[in-house]
Amino acid sequence: MVPLVGAVAELLGVDDAIPESTAEWEGGIKESVVRKRERSRRNRLLCISIHGRICKVCGFDPVTVYGPDGSQIIEVHHIEPLSESSAPRPYDPASDLIPLCPNCHRAIHCRVPAFSPDELRSLMGIS
Ligand SMILES: [Zn+2]
Ligand SMILES: [Zn+2]
Repeated sequence: MVPLVGAVAELLGVDDAIPESTAEWEGGIKESVVRKRERSRRNRLLCISIHGRICKVCGFDPVTVYGPDGSQIIEVHHIEPLSESSAPRPYDPASDLIPLCPNCHRAIHCRVPAFSPDELRSLMGIS
């Protein structure tokens, strides 16, 4: 197996099971039902208005990299994640929400319970 393919296979946990074929059909239509937690558009706007559009973990500013449309890239993280709360409750955009870049947001949810912003900063070697 080609080393890179082997490394990817190991990450995916499929070992040597990857066939040699180079093309695989994708793009078919598959219907699914998704249950999502309600999110407040108002809280998103207030969070970014209060905290700014810069990632609170790594300091990434998407507008400086991608231009004005980059402001849409920033995501709003619930410090007590919606997915871990047992029931809906009020979230204060000043104290319960923070802006994160997509990478940090993905990383903070890599563990259940989610990492705290300080824990993620520590993992990343940011003080
Ligand atoms: Zn970040
Ligand atoms: Zn989040």
